[in-house]
Formats: sequence, C-alpha cells, structure tokens
Amino acid sequence: MFAKVIVDVPAKQTNRAFDYSVPPSLQGWVEVGSRVGVPFGPRVLQGFVVELHETTTVDPKRLKAIRHVLDAAPPLTEELVQLGHWMSSTYLCHEVTALQAMLPGALKAKYERFVQASEAGSAGRTELLLLLPAQENILNYLRSKGKAKMEDLLDAFPEDGGLIRQMLDEGQLVETQGMKDRLATKKALTVFPPGAHEASEAATETHDAGTSGNAPGLGGSADLLAIAEELPARSHKQKEVLRYLHENPRPIRLTELMDKLQVGAGTVKGLADKGWIGLREVEVMRDPYANRHFEETKPLPLTPEQQSVYDDIAATLDSRSHQVYLLQGVTGSGKTEVYLQAISRCLEQGREAIVLVPEISLTPQMVERFKGRFGDEVAVMHSRLSLGERYDEWRKIMRRQVRVVIGARSAVFVPFRQLGLIIIDEEHESSYKQEESPKYHARDIAAWRARYNGAAVVLGSATPSLESIQKTKAAPGGKPEYKLLKMKSRVAGRPLPPVHIVDMREELRSGNRSMFSRLLHRGLEERLLKGEQTVLLLNRRGYATFVMCRTCGYVAGCPHCDISLTYHQVSRTLRCHYCGYAERQMELCPDCGSEHIRHFGTGTQRVEEELVKLFPGIRVIRMDVDTTTEKGSHEKWLTMFRNKQADVLLGTQMVAKGLDFPDVTLVGVIAADTVLNLPDFRSAERTFQLLTQVAGRAGRHQLPGEVFVQTYTPEHYSVITASRHDYEGFVEEELPHRRKLGYPPYCRLILITLTHEQVPLLVRTAEAVAQRLRELGAAEQENVFASGTGEDFFMNVLGPVASPIPRIKDRYRFQCVVKYRGEASASRIVAKVLDEFAERTTKDKLTISVDVDPQMLM
Ligand code: ADP
Ligand code: ZN
Ligand code: ZN
Repeated sequence: MFAKVIVDVPAKQTNRAFDYSVPPSLQGWVEVGSRVGVPFGPRVLQGFVVELHETTTVDPKRLKAIRHVLDAAPPLTEELVQLGHWMSSTYLCHEVTALQAMLPGALKAKYERFVQASEAGSAGRTELLLLLPAQENILNYLRSKGKAKMEDLLDAFPEDGGLIRQMLDEGQLVETQGMKDRLATKKALTVFPPGAHEASEAATETHDAGTSGNAPGLGGSADLLAIAEELPARSHKQKEVLRYLHENPRPIRLTELMDKLQVGAGTVKGLADKGWIGLREVEVMRDPYANRHFEETKPLPLTPEQQSVYDDIAATLDSRSHQVYLLQGVTGSGKTEVYLQAISRCLEQGREAIVLVPEISLTPQMVERFKGRFGDEVAVMHSRLSLGERYDEWRKIMRRQVRVVIGARSAVFVPFRQLGLIIIDEEHESSYKQEESPKYHARDIAAWRARYNGAAVVLGSATPSLESIQKTKAAPGGKPEYKLLKMKSRVAGRPLPPVHIVDMREELRSGNRSMFSRLLHRGLEERLLKGEQTVLLLNRRGYATFVMCRTCGYVAGCPHCDISLTYHQVSRTLRCHYCGYAERQMELCPDCGSEHIRHFGTGTQRVEEELVKLFPGIRVIRMDVDTTTEKGSHEKWLTMFRNKQADVLLGTQMVAKGLDFPDVTLVGVIAADTVLNLPDFRSAERTFQLLTQVAGRAGRHQLPGEVFVQTYTPEHYSVITASRHDYEGFVEEELPHRRKLGYPPYCRLILITLTHEQVPLLVRTAEAVAQRLRELGAAEQENVFASGTGEDFFMNVLGPVASPIPRIKDRYRFQCVVKYRGEASASRIVAKVLDEFAERTTKDKLTISVDVDPQMLM
C-alpha cells in the first residue's frame, strides 16, 4: 500500500502530496483523511493522507514509510480532502492550510524540539577536541538525561544559548523533533464504590488509562457500611464518605464528592489506598451547556409566507437534489422557525444539518432555539468555547452523537457524512469571510458541499449581499445560480418600526454640540420614565478615520474612485487606498469654507460618559471589544439587559444583530456616517445593512418601537432606503454605482498584499508583480478575443499602492487589486505570477498574500 500525504509545511515547495509506503503494521489504519506522522527531511512531521494506492510510480525502495497514525478514526472525510484540494486552487492557499482549517484547534500539531549528544559526543571522542568547561557541562547534562527538550536545556544553561547553537552546528549535539496534539482529552479522577463499573457512568465515555488506584476488590456495597463501623471515631470524615458511597453506589467525580461532603482529597485517597474503593482517571466530555436546561419547543403553525418558503425547501430536500436558496425575509418575519422545520425534515430523512450564524449572534438565546427543538442532537461550535470544549463538541460529531451543528464560520467544515442542509443566517455578514489564510467564504464552501452531497443551502437575510442577490438573476441564456424566496412581513402582523432620520448638521446650526440630538434625547427621557429599554449603536470598525466638515457634511473623497479619503496623521495628508491619490489635509471645508473640520472615530466610552452626565442615575451596559473579552461576559451583559438591570444597551455592531428583547422600544444610531465613510466600495451597503439590522431590534413584541438615526448625510440613499425598510430600493440605487465603477457584483476582485521590512525593495517588487500581471492579463484578453468564443473576459490591475494599514509589526505593506470578469483565468494568472516570483521573494524574505473575493480592501 502507498499513500500520498500532504505534510504540515505551509510553503510553496511543499504544496503537493508526497509519496510514502504504508508499513504492514499500519495497514487497515491508514485511510484517506488519516492524520499521520511521516519522516520529512530530518524530522517527523504531521501530514494528511489524501490518496491511497496499490501501486506507485516511485521506486518503492526509495520511499520512506509512514511512522504512525495519530487517530483511531480519520478526522477528515474523503469529501473534506477533496474540498481542501478545491480550496487550494480557488483561494490560492496551501493545501495543508486548508485541511488544518477544517479541524478543531486542539488537533493542530505541536512540535517539540529535543536535543541529545551526537554519537561523537556520547562516544567521548570529543575529548580529542578542546572543549570549554561549559561545553563539558552541557554534554554531561545530556549524557545523564539521554535526551532533553530544547527549552529545558536552555533553562538549565541560560547563558549558553549561543554555545548550544554552535555545538549543534559542529555536530556535537543533534536535534530531533517530536510531535504531539495541542490538547489531550480531559480526564477526571473518579471515585468508584465497589461493584460500580465505569460503564455505569452513563454520560461519559470511559477509557482505560491504566492509572493509579486499585480495582475495587470487594464484593457488595454492604461492606462499605461494615468498614465504616469499624473505623475509629476520629476518622469521621472517612466514615462519612463510605456511608455516602454505600447509599449512592455510583461512580462520582472526585471533586464533586469533595464538594458535597466537604472533605479533602487525602481523605478519599486514603480509602482508595486501602483498596476499599476505586479511584481512577476517566475521560470526560466537556459540555459547555451541561448545567442548562432547555425547554422543549414544538413546531409553530406556519404563516402562509413561511409555509410557501418551507414547501419549496422541503421539495428540494425530498428529491435530494442540490439547490442554493436566498431567503430574503424582513427582520421578525420568522426565518428561524422556517430553518427549524426544514432541519426537522432533513433529520427525518436520516440526514444531517449545519446552521451557521455570525459569531456575535451566537448568543445563548440563539442556541436555546435550536437545543429547545432538537435537544441533545445539537452540537455548538464557536470561538468563545475553550479549545477543549470545542474539541469535545467536534468529537460528538465524529462519533455521530449529534446530527445538527450550530456554529460560527468554521462549523461549515464539520465532518458530517450525510449532509442534507446548510443554513447560513445573516448571509451578508462579512464575518463569513475568513481574513487569514485560508481566506475562504463560508457561502462558497457551503455551496461546494451541497453540490457534493446533493444537499440544500438556505442563505437567509433581511438585507442580502449584492453578490448573492445578483446570483438570483439569470445570466443570459442560463438558470440563476440561487433561487430567491421572500418573506415580506413580520409574523402576527406586527409593524416594522418607524425610522426617523435626524440631520446632525441642523443640530449644530441650532447650537446643540452634544452627540445626542434633541429628538434622541427626548426619546431616551421618555423610555426612562416609562421603564422601557433602549439600544444605542455606535459603530466603529476598521482602523481608518475619515475627515468631515461638521457644518455641511462634506467628506473628502477621491476624484477617481468615489470613496472617502483616509486621514494620515503623520504626514497630515488625505489618501485614497485604492489608487494612491493623495492631497494635503484640509484646513477649511472646500464646499462651505467652515473651519469645523472633524476627524471621526468617537468611542463608545465617550458616549457612555455623556449619557451618565445627561441622565444622572441612568443604568448603561456598554458592549464593545473592551468589555467582552472575558469569557462569558458577552452572555452576562445580555442576561443583565434582558432582566432589566439596565436602561440602555450601548455598543458596537454586536448590539445590532439577532437580539430579541421584548421591552426594547427605542433604537438610536449615534452616527450612521462612521460606516458610510469607510474607504470601501461596500460602505453604502454596510450602512444600509447595519441600519436595517439595528432598526429591527425595536418593537419586536407587543410594545411598538421607534428608531432614530443620527447622520450628517441624511440625503444619502443608504440612509433613506434603510429608514423605509426598502431593500429593493437600496439595491436599485446601489447597483448602477457598482456597474459604473466596475466593482462586485459586476466583476470580481483579488487583493494581493506584499510585505517587507524595507520600502524600496517592496515597491520595486510590487511594481514588477503588477507589471507582470498586466502583461499576462493583456495576453489572456487577446487569446480569449482571438478564440472567438465570445467569452466575457476582462482583467485590470490597480496599484501598487500602500495598504490602508501601511505597516504592521515593522513590515511595510503594499497592495495591488486585480479586477476581473470571466471564469477562473484571473486566479490562474495570479497563481502563475506568484510562482514566477516565488524564488525571488523567498530569497528576499518578502511575503505575498492573496485574498480572492476580499471583503475588505485593507
Ligand atoms: P427573523 O429571524 O426573521 O428576524 P424570528 O425567527 O426571530 O424572525 O421570529 C420573530 C418572532 O416571531 C419570534 O419571537 C418567533 O418565535 C415568532 N414566530 C415565528 N414564526 C411564528 C409563527 N409561525 N407563529 C407565531 N410566532 C412566530
Ligand atoms: Zn463644509
Ligand atoms: Zn482613488
């Protein structure tokens, strides 16, 4: 047997499968998708088996053998291995990086460096050389240990790092590498009364760890009582433990027993040492929701709108065909109930379902809706779980203990084998795009997996992305890629809340310099009096700040790109990050001559201070990156707000999404412009989405709601259409802009970022890369034209220019943007150019990273 293995070295030269032989002892263990340890150069590395063959074209004598198999069952399925290959060519990333992204962090290999004396060193032949005393000491230390971890050796000889290095170079020492998982399964010491076996501990998996403790040697549990009677009176603690175990003859976690009876570990251990009870380590599953009870919910009778959407999806499920749906439903239209019933249908067919929600919407409330309907069939995966908790949720999937997964982006990779349905809620969210390699979009992965499995995908949103809505329209002569489904009204005839636009220029003119308009101020006051609640949104994202005239609302924009310019404090200039255009920072507004020029970027903390000043005694919960880093804090704040321990929930976009609080009747947006003026062609779309989302938080239940949007650009169509809850209106305004400027969905983008410590070399290389891209692009264009197929191919290269964040960690950054239309040729061209430059950039230590379909051009 021979295996092709992708090794864990994310580099250009190793981005292919290597051949290994499968030794007889491992046959039957090595499968496609297995994680293995393989010799690679001088080291043993982790790798993934991607193919198995009976024969090989390589001389078998020259092949190295797989050293070990790391898991009893392969952590990747055949499907995921193929997906990894597709990702590598689609997103131009290393295949191993794609495969790693599919596994829980706990399974990322951790390499350990070991050092030992070389043969020459241990044979004492070094005596022929002139050794320094320090060298003697190091060799003696290693001879006594045999082998030491590099870090231990460095700890033992803190002064001699350089010397150790030299001894390695000279061959007196050799280095080897070991490999282990980042995290093991969790084990807990468990107490076993006589006769209680591990298997009787129902919920936990058992595992013969062969650890300390005696097997229970005694027969019936009556003995414990007898032993207790015979113990001297001063051992009353031990007596208590024995009596408890007599009455409760079941295994119990040591810590739990200690808690219950208020005894120390020594007390229990003493009993185990005597052989009266057993004490062993048992593998336990970490369950983040173990102590929570979820009220069971029954399917609701669907509204006619919900019913017709459901019927369509159910028909696809029944036929086991592949279809991507775009479900556009206004906030509160009952999308979740449709998801739940579609999942039921899928489970009835014996298939499995994945539900993706944005990380920040993955609140307990959201989890409850799914656990309430499907109970223990549900696993939850998101980054606020610990590495261990996530690993255990993943193992439940591997063991087929669950059939529904609800999670953030990376849950799209879970190793289900009977996938029937993938739901992506709030599909327009940019968090579905991973910003580091592999730079994938969960939407594309879902579509790929659905095709592979004959499954349905439901992309749900009140404000679908323009890319998705465009895919619901038929290409000339073709069938649309996505099918559009709509739900236009809220359930139970509840109205969408009225949205008032507040012109902040007007406020300034009438002498109000506060960040609260008079209307929002009055609204807050009323809510405080009535004991109702308010959600305040202050969005601050990205690092860029923009410059605006507070008198007339003028924002400095690029004359060539139709995006706002970014202020550079150091050089006091305004720059365009797409084309490189720059101008001096303005002192006076070029439109109205006012001196009231402001740099934007107000923080939530300032808003909080102002609230407290204006409304003494007001109870504010502030939610932003600063207040939600601690584990569980996000949840804590939301629970407090739900319990009405606060009047105002103030925060960044994390307060805009998915929350459903009955007493919220007022929503205020402090400054709609913070998003609108980001230097990004999607800024209008993001503004519209965010305003619509946050407005959707008000009046979701009995009490009617109202929304105030403060802005310096009240005439902007994204603000106006959002205030009317008019998605179609927004799309109609936005698409012509995109078409005119040649942005998605009318073309696609590839962002290429180069980084290096020195600017001149960086600029030279960036220019050479751009030049080469242009040459190949032009050649391809000619080819396509000459071929006469009428294919619509077009490719244009912008830049290079300095990246919006021009330096990170002392490395300067330059970027090019490739705009293109037509099938995969552009990524092929980019891949080819990267190949051509690979040697040179490796030599110069220059990095080039590629982002296909970037969500942000930063
Ligand atoms: P969306 O996700 O579209 O914003 P939700 O799924 O949160 O909307 O639904 C809004 C509210 O309507 C929820 O409280 C939900 O329980 C309720 N709801 C949904 N469908 C129905 C139905 N068919 N009958 C009664 N109430 C419903
Ligand atoms: Zn002005
Ligand atoms: Zn520009």
